[in-house]
Amino acid sequence: STGRALTIQSHVVSGYVGNKCAVFPLQLHGFDVDPILSVQFSNHTGYGCWKGEVMTGEQLQSLVEGLEQNGLLEGYTHLLTGYIGSASMLRTVARLVRKLRTYNPNLVYVCDPVLGDNGRLYVPAELTTIYREEIVPLATLLTPNQFEAELLTGMTIGSEEDALAACASLHQAGPPSVVLTSLDLDHSASSSSTITLLGSTSQPQAERCGQRFRIVVPRIPSYFTGTGDLCAALLLAWTAKMPDKLGRAAEMAVASLQGVLRRTAAAQAVAEAAGKTGIGCRELRLVNSVDELLHPKITEEVTWLD
Ligand code: ADP
Ligand code: MG
Ligand code: MG
Repeated sequence: STGRALTIQSHVVSGYVGNKCAVFPLQLHGFDVDPILSVQFSNHTGYGCWKGEVMTGEQLQSLVEGLEQNGLLEGYTHLLTGYIGSASMLRTVARLVRKLRTYNPNLVYVCDPVLGDNGRLYVPAELTTIYREEIVPLATLLTPNQFEAELLTGMTIGSEEDALAACASLHQAGPPSVVLTSLDLDHSASSSSTITLLGSTSQPQAERCGQRFRIVVPRIPSYFTGTGDLCAALLLAWTAKMPDKLGRAAEMAVASLQGVLRRTAAAQAVAEAAGKTGIGCRELRLVNSVDELLHPKITEEVTWLD
C-alpha cells in the first residue's frame, strides 16, 4: 500500500464532509485508512437540523490506548486531522502526534486547522491558542484558509505579499510546508470570480520546482460543502506521491478537486432542472468521480513565485 493513514475528522451518516470526504479518496490512492470520528452526525450542519454526538478527549484517549495495547500505533505513515470541536480533544491530538512519532519519527502530519471561514469562528475561541501553541509546531503540512492563517499568525492578509509573510511566520512556528487553501485577494468585487491557493515550503524542492507558488481557480457559482476537507485529503494523497514537489502535488490535488466540483455542479443542474432543490442535491458526487480523483486533467497550472 501507499501508506497507512489515521484520519481524525467529523463523520456524517448521510452526505459528504469530514472523513466521508477523506476516506474514499485516500483508499483509492492506495492508503490503508483508519478513521476516527470527531463527531458522528446524521448529516452536515447546513441542513435544517441534525442529530448525533461529539467525541470527547477522553473517548479519543481510550481509542488510542486500545490501539497502543495491541501494537497498532506502529505502522502509521500519515496523520490527517480536520474539524475538532473541543479543547480536550485537541490537546489529546497533540499528545497522540508525539506518541505516533515515537513509533515513526518520519510520520507526516497533515493538519487542516479548522477554525472558521470568512471572518466567522465555528469552534470555541480557545482552540486558536491550542492550535498555535501545541498543534501547529507538530504539523508537516498545514492547510489553513485565509481567516485561519490570520488567526494563527495574528497577521492581516490583504495581499499576496501579506499571505507569503504569513506562510513565513507559520514556517517559523514549525510546519515545513504550508498551503493557504483559499485566499480572496480581489477587493474590487463583493464576491470575487476566482479563488487563489498559495503554497510555500522551506524544504528543498526537486529540479525546476519552486518553493513558493500560486494556483488560481475560477469560482464555480454554486454552493458546496466538504470542499476544504476534500482539499486537505487530496493534498495528503498527492504529496505522498510527489514528496519533494509541493507545487506539482498541489496542482494535481486542485485538478482532482475541480474535477469533482465540475461533476457535482453538473449533477446539481440536472437535479434542479428536475425540480429537486433540497440541500441533499448539493452533496459532492464523490463516488462518481473516481477518474477525477485518480487521473485528473490539469486545467489550472501552478505559477512559481521564486
Ligand atoms: P477552506 O475555507 O478550508 O479553504 P474551501 O472549501 O473554502 O475550504 O476551499 C477549498 C478549496 O475548494 C479551494 O481551494 C477551491 O479549490 C475549492 N472550492 C471551494 N469552493 C469552490 C467554488 N465555488 N468554485 C471552485 N472551487 C471551489
Ligand atoms: Mg472556505
Ligand atoms: Mg479548511
